[in-house]
Amino acid sequence: MALAPREASGKASWTGFVEPEPGLQIPCTIIRGRQPGPKLLVTAGVHGAEYSSIEAARRLSRLAPDAFAGELTILPILNIGAFFQHRAFHNPSDDKNVNRVFPGDPKGTASDRLAHWLVSQAMSGMDGYIDLHGGDIVEALMPFSIYPDTHARSRELAIASGLPFASASNRKVHSYAAAVGLGIPAVLLEAGQNGLVTEEAVGLLEGGVKGVMAELGMTAKANQPAKAAPRLVRMEVATAPDAGYWTCTTRPGAEVRKGDRVGTVADLIGRWEKPILAEHSGPVLYHLTSLAVNKSQALIGIAVS
Ligand SMILES: [Zn+2]
Repeated sequence: MALAPREASGKASWTGFVEPEPGLQIPCTIIRGRQPGPKLLVTAGVHGAEYSSIEAARRLSRLAPDAFAGELTILPILNIGAFFQHRAFHNPSDDKNVNRVFPGDPKGTASDRLAHWLVSQAMSGMDGYIDLHGGDIVEALMPFSIYPDTHARSRELAIASGLPFASASNRKVHSYAAAVGLGIPAVLLEAGQNGLVTEEAVGLLEGGVKGVMAELGMTAKANQPAKAAPRLVRMEVATAPDAGYWTCTTRPGAEVRKGDRVGTVADLIGRWEKPILAEHSGPVLYHLTSLAVNKSQALIGIAVS
């Protein structure tokens, strides 16, 4: 047991603070099920203002021990500085996006060290890993999962989550990629938008975790609600050619065709206006909702089958 302090041993469930480093306290719940079985780690708040995902993790922390076999460890607010400061994407301690620095570095800045702690301590000994995301303050999206494209077992977990799209990724800097690097099947689940807490998004994420728990053998699959198979896709992202005003003319779930105009980036004093054309055909998985856009910032993600 990597995280639990001594007072937690022998108890069916424990909730308290753990310290990735001196002075940094984040909440943690460990629930030991009715019998031994797989160990699952669930994190949320890697992006600390994706509040639907944090609320889903908080509710999962109340699961009854006799509801499953194995052990569930939940870290609901990994990036606690961003949580309290309502900061999109970044850790206020060093202005880094924590989900771009995995597997981390014990000698780096705050985000690097936090990622390293998660990988070396929290993931250690786990049989599965789920990272919950909830649509940041400037994002609108369709619910989707992401799994490492070369890892078949992770794809099975993504399918079991029941979210309508499952996107294969080859990015190495994300949390789930670090888990797979340790041999642990892992997925990212995302639902919600604009940092809002909605029952729909929280329910999708909670249901997604329970689907993965059944796939891992922690609960009976027969007790899971029937879900349609997700569309297996790859997300293609268009980025801003320049900084300026962003006007989006599509929405999550809309089907766009290659060449369709999906929005415009315009100069702040009207000298130019650049149409943003879809480079692929498929449904819109997410888009930036903010009027302000920075050069090279992601504008829109299209799901390509
Ligand atoms: Zn996120």
